[in-house]
Amino acid sequence: MPNDTFGRPLRNLRVSVTDRCNLRCAYCMPEQEYVWLPREDMLQFEEIEKLVDVFLDEGVDKVRLTGGEPLLRRDLPVLVGRLAARSRIHDLALTTNGVLLAEHARSLREAGLHRVTVSLDTLRHERFRDLARYDELDRVLDGIGVAAPLFGGLKIDTVVIRGVNDDELVDIIEFGRTHGAEVRFIEYMDVGGATQWSTGRVVSKADMLETLARHYGAISALPEESSAPARRYRLPDGAVFGIIASTTAPFCSDCDRSRLTADGMWYLCLYATEGVDLRRALRADASHDAIASIIRGTWERRRDRGAEDRLASSNRSPLISLDRLRRDPHLEMHTRGG
Ligand code: SAM
Ligand code: SF4
Ligand code: SF4
Repeated sequence: MPNDTFGRPLRNLRVSVTDRCNLRCAYCMPEQEYVWLPREDMLQFEEIEKLVDVFLDEGVDKVRLTGGEPLLRRDLPVLVGRLAARSRIHDLALTTNGVLLAEHARSLREAGLHRVTVSLDTLRHERFRDLARYDELDRVLDGIGVAAPLFGGLKIDTVVIRGVNDDELVDIIEFGRTHGAEVRFIEYMDVGGATQWSTGRVVSKADMLETLARHYGAISALPEESSAPARRYRLPDGAVFGIIASTTAPFCSDCDRSRLTADGMWYLCLYATEGVDLRRALRADASHDAIASIIRGTWERRRDRGAEDRLASSNRSPLISLDRLRRDPHLEMHTRGG
C-alpha cells in the first residue's frame, strides 16, 4: 500500500458518476453555459468496478459517490449494489443535492449504501432559488425526510457565504436536529468553477464559531479524527456539528483523498490541474497489475497540498479563469466531485 511523499496513505476515493447537474449553485456552476464531458467517455459501471478493485488493492477502503448530481446517473443503485458487495469497502457513501433523493433513497439503502450526505445551503425558498437557480427546496427537504430514517440519520453539508446564508447557521443546526442529521458547515473555497469567489465572501471557521457561541453559549471541540476534513464541536445541549475549514485552516497534512472523474481521469488533489487518464489505460486493455502500478507510482510521487498552497499565496482570487475552465472542464468542481 503506497504512501505519498509526505507519508499520506491512499485510503479515500471519491468517484464522480456524472458531471451533469440539476442545480446551478452559485459557488460551483455560476455560468449560463457549460462544456460537458462526451457521453462516450463516461465510464460504464463495469469500468468503474475494475478501477475500484485496483484502488482497493492499493489501500482504499472508503468510497464516496458524487458528481455533478450522482442521482442523475441512471441505475445508480445497481452500481451501489455492486460496490456494496465488496467487503473491503468499509465506508460507502453518497453526496447528493437531495433533489431526487426521496424517490431513490429506499433503493439505495436496499442496494447496500452505508451513508448519505445531503448538501443544503438554505431553508428559505427565495434564497434557494437565488443560490441554486431553481427552487427545489421542498424536494430536498422531502428527500432528507425520507432518507434520514432509512439510513439512521445523515449528514448535511452547508457552504457558508458571507451576505448570502451566514445568518442561517442556527436555523440549519436546528433543522438537522429534527432529522438526526449532523450539520457540517463548509468554508467557501476558491476552487474549480467558483468564479465569483472572493476573500470577502468567505466566512471563516472562527467567525462561524463566534456566531454559534453567541446563540448557544460555550462550544467545546471534540477530539480530532485523523484525516477527517471536518473538525467537530459540541454545543452545550449536546448537539454535535462540524466545520470544514478548507480555506482558512486547511487539513492537507492528513489528506488521504483522491478523485476519479466520470470519464476516468484521476486527480490527487481538489486543486490539481493535471490528472492521470485511467480510462485510456482501461480501454487499451491494460491489466489490473499494470493499472495498479500506474496508481501506486503516481501516489508515491504525490506532493499536493493545494489548499495550504492557496492559503500561503497573497492576493487570492478565483483559482482558474473562465477561459481555462471552458477549455478543460476537468478543472470544474462539478466534474471533480467536490
Ligand atoms: N451535487 C452534489 C451535491 O451538491 O451534494 C455532489 C457534488 S458537489 C460538487 C459536492 C460538494 O461540493 C457539495 O457539498 C458542494 O456544496 C461542495 N462545493 C461545491 N463548490 C464549492 C465551493 N466553491 N466551496 C465549497 N464547497 C463547494
Ligand atoms: Fe450544486 Fe452539487 Fe450541482 Fe455543484 S454539483 S451545482 S454543488 S448541486
Ligand atoms: Fe487534500 Fe488537496 Fe484538499 Fe489539501 S487541498 S485536503 S491535499 S484535496
